[in-house]
Amino acid sequence: MILKPKGCYDVIDKEALKFKKINRIIEYYCDFYNYEYIRTPLFEASDLYHRSVGDTSDIVTKETYDFEDRSGRKLTLRPEGTAGVVRSFIENKMYGGSLPRKFYYNGTMYRYERPGNGRNREFTQFGVEVLGSNDEAIDAEVISFGYRLFEELGFKDLTVKINNLGDKKSRESYKNALVEYLKPHINDLCADCQKRIKTNPLRILDCKVDAESSILKNAPSILDYQSKESNDRFNKVLEYLRYLDVDYEVDKTLVRGLDYYDYTVFEIISPLEVLKGASTICAGGRYNNLTEVLDGPQVPCIGFASGLERVSLALDEIETVEKPRLDVYIMYINEEEKIKCLTLAQDLRNSGVCVDYNSLGKSLKSQFKDADRMGADKLIILNSEDLNKGLITVKDNLTKEEVKIDENEIIDYIVSNV
Ligand code: ATP
Ligand code: MG
Repeated sequence: MILKPKGCYDVIDKEALKFKKINRIIEYYCDFYNYEYIRTPLFEASDLYHRSVGDTSDIVTKETYDFEDRSGRKLTLRPEGTAGVVRSFIENKMYGGSLPRKFYYNGTMYRYERPGNGRNREFTQFGVEVLGSNDEAIDAEVISFGYRLFEELGFKDLTVKINNLGDKKSRESYKNALVEYLKPHINDLCADCQKRIKTNPLRILDCKVDAESSILKNAPSILDYQSKESNDRFNKVLEYLRYLDVDYEVDKTLVRGLDYYDYTVFEIISPLEVLKGASTICAGGRYNNLTEVLDGPQVPCIGFASGLERVSLALDEIETVEKPRLDVYIMYINEEEKIKCLTLAQDLRNSGVCVDYNSLGKSLKSQFKDADRMGADKLIILNSEDLNKGLITVKDNLTKEEVKIDENEIIDYIVSNV
């Protein structure tokens, strides 16, 4: 038997219902906030990720699925969604049109990670990107949009952790100060952090291994290294968040795993026990220089991405998941009844009724069981004797009441009773 690859999973049964619900709310909310759907390729030129996510990021150094196609092109399965959206924005010269563009995407991403709770190798990210506005109100809108969307999904007690990475100059002076501070403690940090101090010192603050270390807790704060302009900008974002009633907490150690972020960075955290080790349900920030890194003009952008497996994990705790539902299940035994079943199912479906029927020549008893499993409201029980009199039996699956309806009135009857 061939099994699924490690770190992948099938979305079936209850998981499929949860994903349908999540996707439905996402679609509804994105329409509501006027975000356009965008779909970009599942694989892109490897260079796109090396340049955007950054050669020293964890994702590029150890998590990408790289391959060559038959013509020797170097390609990478997408590990995240932003780089593809920005590539498309530049390639299609959208920067020349009306701005900002507000996009959302929802699709699978690939990272070679150690699988665990809410952590997979193939996983699904929903994300939004706003390209072409540096208005602090857009930072606040993107954050509050995520916050409200997760509330709508049933999450409670969400916290937004927020920090300001500032401009390149303040980040550079902070990096130097951080390295100076960490140098004497370096042997007490994990092996990865000992490398990061040379390649990507800010990422040390995001280390999962050393997360509780007092060395990191006492590190200098990036907020003390900001220019006035950057500080004012951050305070304005916080002010707008207060107007929008978003519960936030400034976290001076918050940095993101990807290299392209500047200014506002944030995470939305859920306290649910089931998300232990994977409590960040949504993470993002501003990336005002990424378009230039990818050879486009400078365009300020902000976005977030959310891991939907974590959201799905949480749904078990926050509510009972919807059950499958069918308006009508049609039952039959012989060929004459079967033909009636097929035409009746088609007519009902054309009238907007959700219908299914037995397709394996099952016994009546098994058909009753199937109808229950599918959550049928009404059963249409076809039998030749009734049909010869021009009648059709309809049973209410909840009250178990049965009525015989004239064949010519069955569509109207069902439409007005489901
Ligand atoms: P983490 O710190 O948990 O590794 P990250 O910094 O790598 O996350 P991002 O690249 O910012 O995460 O991705 C945004 C979101 O995507 C995460 O907050 C999480 O919800 C989800 N995510 C990231 N990696 C995985 C994975 N391997 N499996 C499932 N979801 C993931
Ligand atoms: Mg990660």
